[in-house]
Amino acid sequence: MIDVIDRILVSEEEIVRRSKELGKQISEDYRKKGTTPIVIGLLKGSVPFLAEIMKHIDLDIEIDFMDVSSYDGAESVGDVKINKDLDKSVKGESILLVEDIVDTGRTLKEVRQLLFNKGAADVKIVSLLDKPDRRVIEINADYVGFEIPNEFVVGYGLDYNQKYRNLPYIGVLKPSVYE
Ligand code: 5GP
Ligand code: MG
Ligand code: MG
Repeated sequence: MIDVIDRILVSEEEIVRRSKELGKQISEDYRKKGTTPIVIGLLKGSVPFLAEIMKHIDLDIEIDFMDVSSYDGAESVGDVKINKDLDKSVKGESILLVEDIVDTGRTLKEVRQLLFNKGAADVKIVSLLDKPDRRVIEINADYVGFEIPNEFVVGYGLDYNQKYRNLPYIGVLKPSVYE
């Protein structure tokens, strides 16, 4: 374990096991509805989780990616800047949005609205992690991998200053790294 990690919160084995469960649940839910979603990953944090969970979604899905950032940093409300847009139109489509973590809920609220503005018929959200104690906006993922306490985590896609995304587990960063 690299020395910036205080402790491991969620192991790689747990993430794989949970991704299988969620993938199965998602497949059943969409099969019942009779629709096939376009799976959209939010860059860059969702990449490892999307790569894992997509293997367990037993539907003829397409995947696409989007990169957005808030106009006014952490306190932004209501608008996002699109750094990389979707390749195809989502008009009339069902979307399964893949996120790394739901924290305040601002990102998801804005991206979901953006997708509806683009004409999406339905938007569901799957997030690897959820920090419910930090929520400012009333929004929840439809599918959550793990609820975690209010601590800053890295790994499995999540970064600190763009680093540590490649760690195969979710770990708590030593506060000395950012204090
Ligand atoms: P929200 O808009 O829900 O407040 O924030 C979501 C984004 O904040 C996530 O996609 C992620 O990029 C970042 N974030 C929130 N909590 C954490 C955390 O504990 N660790 C890391 N690395 N990023 C976080
Ligand atoms: Mg994110
Ligand atoms: Mg980040």
